[in-house]
Amino acid sequence: MHGRNTPQSQLLGYAGGRLDRVDHIRSNPELVAQAFASPLALRLVLEGLEPVVEDSHLRMEPLPRDAWIEHHALLGVDDRQRPIFVELLADAPDSFFATARSRALPQEVPGAEVALYGTARSLLSWHARHRFCSVCGERSAPAKAGWARQCTSCKAEHFPRVDPVVIMLAEHRGRVLLGRQHSWPQGRYSALAGFVEPGETLEEAVAREIMEEAGVATHSVRYVMSQPWPFPSSLMIACVAQADDDALTLDETEIEHAFWCDADGVRAALAGEEDAPFVAPPVMAVAWHLLRHWLEGRGLDAQRLDAQGLEGQVASDNPSA
Ligand SMILES: [Zn+2]
Repeated sequence: MHGRNTPQSQLLGYAGGRLDRVDHIRSNPELVAQAFASPLALRLVLEGLEPVVEDSHLRMEPLPRDAWIEHHALLGVDDRQRPIFVELLADAPDSFFATARSRALPQEVPGAEVALYGTARSLLSWHARHRFCSVCGERSAPAKAGWARQCTSCKAEHFPRVDPVVIMLAEHRGRVLLGRQHSWPQGRYSALAGFVEPGETLEEAVAREIMEEAGVATHSVRYVMSQPWPFPSSLMIACVAQADDDALTLDETEIEHAFWCDADGVRAALAGEEDAPFVAPPVMAVAWHLLRHWLEGRGLDAQRLDAQGLEGQVASDNPSA
């Protein structure tokens, strides 16, 4: 979705990782041990689940001599052949959800490092939440260089989970449906969203969520893009659907208010104009990119939007920190 020249200020957060995930290494204990012993090996430094930023990059350090391989996950190998590890948490963190510090990261370090952090965070929080076997209840232990756990008793294998979430715009006669939740900042509206349930396709999940939250029947669901969201393990799947009509029946426990917004209103909101009909979601969120995709599909001039709305700093996108 983005070229290498996309300014940092316009990147989709947590997407665009550049590490080689080296599955052939992480499934071979001898190769994992070699990588761990390599003088090139580095460890991503976190405080609990929180990122540590130093000179506009994630902090990395050489592996300490007394580090235990069993307590580390191999995140991958970078383009300078350096194996990158992260230490598994000794204690469960207070919360698995986003903090101000983790949300600010996309403004602070290159996009590929934001993706690296997201991968590490999601993996570490999965280990912290899955210490016991869900089959027999005994302790499980990390396996496959941190990309699995195996039960110490029944030997069942468990793999890091990814929870699919659909996030979607319903479109009706040149307008899109936007809603807001009670807890959001004043004026903020975004695409509707919800978890995919067992036994349904993405298309069915999109139609069900729009019907449940807004009472609108839809058809012709189209996939647009996706985004890993590591709080703790969602995969946001962005779609557009065509609405049969524009009458709204809101589920007021989920949605405080919703309205149909035309292209001029969406353009003004994405550009951050003061008299826009709503406050757009953050640029790093897939909802922002979904709204922009919808505008571009309508033939509006995306350059005009860039010129007006995104004068944030253009950070270097150098992956080698
Ligand atoms: Zn078990």
